[in-house]
Amino acid sequence: MSSQSDRKVFIATRVANENVDGWLKDHAVVVDGEKIDSIVPKGQLPSDVADTSDVFDLGDVSLLPGLVDAHCHMHCSATVDAQALALTEDVQRLTMRAVTAMRKAVLAGTTTIRDLGAMNEVSFPVRAAVESGAIPGPRMLLAGTPITITAGHCWFFGTQADTTAEVISAVRNQVRLGANVIKMMATGGMFTPTANPRKPQYSAETLKAAVQEAERSGVQIVAHTLAADGVQNCVEAGIHNLIHARWYDQDPDGELDYRPDVVKQMADQGQWVDPTIGHHLLGVQTRDDEGLPAAPVHWAVSNKVIGDEAHVELMMKMLDAGVRFTSGLDMGMPHATHDMSAANAWSYVEWLGWSPWKAIHTATAATAEAVRVGDIVGQIKPGMFADLAAFTGDPAQNIRDLRIASTVVQSGRVLKLNDRDLV
Ligand SMILES: [Zn+2]
Repeated sequence: MSSQSDRKVFIATRVANENVDGWLKDHAVVVDGEKIDSIVPKGQLPSDVADTSDVFDLGDVSLLPGLVDAHCHMHCSATVDAQALALTEDVQRLTMRAVTAMRKAVLAGTTTIRDLGAMNEVSFPVRAAVESGAIPGPRMLLAGTPITITAGHCWFFGTQADTTAEVISAVRNQVRLGANVIKMMATGGMFTPTANPRKPQYSAETLKAAVQEAERSGVQIVAHTLAADGVQNCVEAGIHNLIHARWYDQDPDGELDYRPDVVKQMADQGQWVDPTIGHHLLGVQTRDDEGLPAAPVHWAVSNKVIGDEAHVELMMKMLDAGVRFTSGLDMGMPHATHDMSAANAWSYVEWLGWSPWKAIHTATAATAEAVRVGDIVGQIKPGMFADLAAFTGDPAQNIRDLRIASTVVQSGRVLKLNDRDLV
């Protein structure tokens, strides 16, 4: 793409305003190099603009900031057997999966991704290759391997640490490898038969030591938690973002154990939650539309299977209490393909009753803020990186029009134009 000139102009019928909560009609985004220079009404472009810039008149599309997804597993297959593959495939095969998945993600319009668990041997080299321009992919914030107990949730990704001292060493090792974020597994998870989702894997004290170590190194720390005891530990420890934040009771016959006082503290501390319900929506849709089997139910929760509705009800309570949600699909888990970040926004509108603009704002500016890149991406604003995604139709009217982008621009470089892949 060396033929692309430094100055580019993207014209669209609908361009998201700076706050990502309304349209500018018939506007042009002027890009200089990697950054956005200005946003002007189409009619105010100089008459000789085509002499000085590459002009892309995208027509009747909705131009948004590139989507930001806070929860990816780049080397996981998104198939029902994702766990078996992650457990048995070699590094070379997993790397090929990751390369393919990251191309798919960016060409769908997701220009920034936070990966919350992939092998160190896969994720750091893939990011280096993307940054050097060797392969296409989103801007990446990486955890590398998650930190888990021996035989704990996703132990096969590579880092097992049991004691507080081992956890501190593991945090330091991830920082040394280039992690921007530390991922802790605060409870077991559905993906790992040997890890009980209803039980904590670490005490609040150990999580707190990990938070202090991450903060000392200036990196974010997030934790997977499915159980009420795990959520409480994450809140007490000051974990920056909670992933899933489900409320399973520790009793195998129990249901959910919502704790309003813990949620109040979570909101007061500004802890963001990634509820991963876009993933659940895709699961339901795949079962209903395509007749594919659901992912198997984990033995530890099988005594009492809790439907999505019960979890969604508690999410509404968390929102009412002032907790903010990120857009994070859990890409790579069964049914959550790497091109479907838009399903987060669908679930917020269709299951939580949000306005489309609130969902679009969360899929862009709000999640950029939550993953600490809100000063460089997530809005169409002068000075920000020119990461843009155009969608056919109007997602502010119909959220399902947010799907696969027809045009994608990353750091001013056109990766896809009018449904044609250029990389
Ligand atoms: Zn995950």
